[in-house]
Amino acid sequence: MILAQKIRLLPTKEQEELFWKSSGVARWAYNFALKESEMWYQDKNETLNQMNIRKFINNVLKPNSHKWLKEVGSNVMKQAVIDFGLARQRFFDGKADYPKLKRKYKSKPSFFVNHESLKRTKDGFRGEKIGFIKTSQPLPKLTKGQKYYKNPRITHDGRNWYLSIGFEREFEEVELTDVSLGIDVGIKELAVVSNKTFYKNINKTKRVKQLEKRLKRKQRQVARMLENNTKSYTNNRKPIYIQPIKDLKNFQKKKHEISMIFKKLTDIRQNHLHQATSEIVKTKPSRTVMETLNIKGMMKNKHLSKAIASQKLHEFQRQIQYKAEKFGIEVIKADKWFASSKICSNCGHKKVDLKLKDRTYYCSNCGISIDRDYNASLNLANYLI
Ligand SMILES: [Zn+2]
Repeated sequence: MILAQKIRLLPTKEQEELFWKSSGVARWAYNFALKESEMWYQDKNETLNQMNIRKFINNVLKPNSHKWLKEVGSNVMKQAVIDFGLARQRFFDGKADYPKLKRKYKSKPSFFVNHESLKRTKDGFRGEKIGFIKTSQPLPKLTKGQKYYKNPRITHDGRNWYLSIGFEREFEEVELTDVSLGIDVGIKELAVVSNKTFYKNINKTKRVKQLEKRLKRKQRQVARMLENNTKSYTNNRKPIYIQPIKDLKNFQKKKHEISMIFKKLTDIRQNHLHQATSEIVKTKPSRTVMETLNIKGMMKNKHLSKAIASQKLHEFQRQIQYKAEKFGIEVIKADKWFASSKICSNCGHKKVDLKLKDRTYYCSNCGISIDRDYNASLNLANYLI
């Protein structure tokens, strides 16, 4: 199957300029193709082949009135016109609306990078006309038999530039069960699954609590060291040190210890997530249902925000999603208004006065008494789209 990956780019100023130019050319070419195609249809009542549009741009416009097209990779224009052709075909096939003009401030800056000349390097890649670009992480290696990445595109999200690429990976064929699995994520437990499996909140374990404690102690020590090394403050409250920070051997040592504890904590949490999500997906349900997390809303609650941040609930859901997709398991996010906690999984009665502290769900209608999160997971498992 083909997987896709998005990698953040670290371009130079010149490269960024070229990215903007290329995005501009792609948008221009797409719009040009759309307008030409419409005019052709009005005149002759037939569809203008996208290949003829490209020929016209290359042979007539590029050498004369549109010399600026030469400043960017030649595949930028080519692919943009092909993109228009594909969008138009989707319309003919009844799969989409007729393509619209790409407006400058509404459409996402994006352009195609020639896949044949795109080559992975140690800390980035080389691309046609753009040269070597540094990336925030290495590109995935192509496996044997694969020559190129599929459909490489460079996009801008308003802040950063990214490279999106597709690549082939083999996965074992798995036979799925007919189970619909509800997964309730939360604060008390990391996740409660409708097959009655509970995944603990790793932050409540002795090991993590000890590390957190050690971290706090060292952070206090470091703060004190800085304080003792401060002579006075400047007008804008910057400290003036007695000894330069880099000469404080003990301070540097403590700082290093702190970053090691941070790393350890991150590893423990990440491992726990991977273990839990892999185990859940390995039960091979036909679908998983999770709630749509209102992280922003929950973060406003001071008591909850730290617990949520360290639980990495978003990351948990992301892992479930990509691991499930590898096996062809359907991933459903319940509507954000779906009251998974309040409904009785036994009779469907809705309890309006359920409080956060009520750990057991008691139904006044059918009399059932059940763990609150387990009840929620059963409701998610039964969720109807
Ligand atoms: Zn009930």
